[in-house]
Amino acid sequence: PRPHPTLRVRPLTCTETRRGDQQVVHSLGDGAVHVSAARHDATFGFSAVFDAGASQEVVFEGSGMRQLVELAIDGFSCTVFAFGQTGSGKTYTLMGPLGQSETQPASPALLGLMQRSFTCLLEQSRSRGSDLALSASYLEIYNEQVRDLLSPGPPCALPLRWSKTRGFYVENQLSVEFESLEAIVSLLLQGSQRRRTSAHALNRHSSRSHALLTIHVCSRAASACPSKQGTLCFVDLAGSERVKETGSSGELSVEANSINRSLLALGHCISLLAKPRGKRTHIPYRDSKLTRLLARSLGGSGITLMVACISPSSRCLSETLSTLHYASRARRVTTRP
Ligand code: ADP
Ligand code: MG
Repeated sequence: PRPHPTLRVRPLTCTETRRGDQQVVHSLGDGAVHVSAARHDATFGFSAVFDAGASQEVVFEGSGMRQLVELAIDGFSCTVFAFGQTGSGKTYTLMGPLGQSETQPASPALLGLMQRSFTCLLEQSRSRGSDLALSASYLEIYNEQVRDLLSPGPPCALPLRWSKTRGFYVENQLSVEFESLEAIVSLLLQGSQRRRTSAHALNRHSSRSHALLTIHVCSRAASACPSKQGTLCFVDLAGSERVKETGSSGELSVEANSINRSLLALGHCISLLAKPRGKRTHIPYRDSKLTRLLARSLGGSGITLMVACISPSSRCLSETLSTLHYASRARRVTTRP
C-alpha cells in the first residue's frame, strides 16, 4: 500500500496571535487543505487533515494509527513519521506536551500517538495472553552520528552496518524488554531527555536530532504456526529550517546543515520511490544515516504513516508550502509488505 499522508495544522500560538499573524491555511474538509496568501493560492489533498480543533484522540483514531499497531502485531514493519518545520507540532503530535516538561505529567487527554499506541499494544498483548514479547530501542541521529538514547552514560556513536540478511542495522544497540505502560513511558522519558536539543528563536525546546523509537513485537505463537516479528517505529524528525530565520550560527548552523542534508536525502529517496516501478533507478539510501535506517520502511516491505505538521501562520508560509510539497511527493510511493 501507499503511505498515508496525514496533515496536522496546529493552532496559532500565543506569540503568533499577539503579533497579529494571518492564518493562511484552511481545511476544506474531505482531506483537502487550502493555502491562500498574497501570491500563493493552492489546494493539497491528504488521506486526512486535522486542523487546530482536532484533539490528540481524534488524531490517533483518524490517522489509522490503531490499524498500524495491529499490523505490527501481525508481523509487519510499521513506521510513523512526523515531519515539518521546527515548531510545527511534531513532538506534540507524537508525545504530547510531555516532550516539553519533564516534571509535570501530561494530562491523559494530551498524550500523543506514542503513548496511545503503547496502551493499544499492551491491551492487545493482555487479551492475547502472554504470547507477545515487547522490547524497545531508542536512537537519535545527531550531526550524522547514531546514538543510543537508552544506554546509560554519555552518548557515544554506534556504527551503522549492512548485512545481506538484516539490511541496515545498528551495532550494539540496546533493546529493553517491557511489560507495562509505566515501563515503556519511562523509557520514552529517559530517552527523550537525553535527546540533543537547543534553544533558538523558533522553539525553545527545538529538537536538533532525528529520534527513532522502535518497538519490537515478537509473537510466540502456538506450536502450529511460526513466530512473527513485527516492528513499530516512531520517527520524530528534526525540523527543516532556514538558517537565517532561526538566527543559528556556529555550532547551530552545523547542526542545521546536517539536518537539512539528511532531510534532503530523505526527500530525494521518496521522490525516486514515487516513480513507477519499471522506471526506477537506484535509490540512494546510503546518502544519509537517516535514509539507511528508514530504508526498509520506505522502500521495501514496510507500511508507513506520515504526519506532516504545519503552522497556519503567514510567517511560516514558505516552509509550510515546502512541507506540503514534500508530503504530496510521498503520496505516490508504494511498497509491498
Ligand atoms: P516541533 O517538535 O515540530 O518542533 P513542538 O511539538 O515542540 O514542535 O510544538 C511547538 C509548540 O506548539 C509547543 O509549544 C507545543 O506545545 C505547541 N503545539 C504544537 N501542536 C499543538 C497543538 N495541536 N495544540 C496545541 N499546541 C500545540
Ligand atoms: Mg520537536
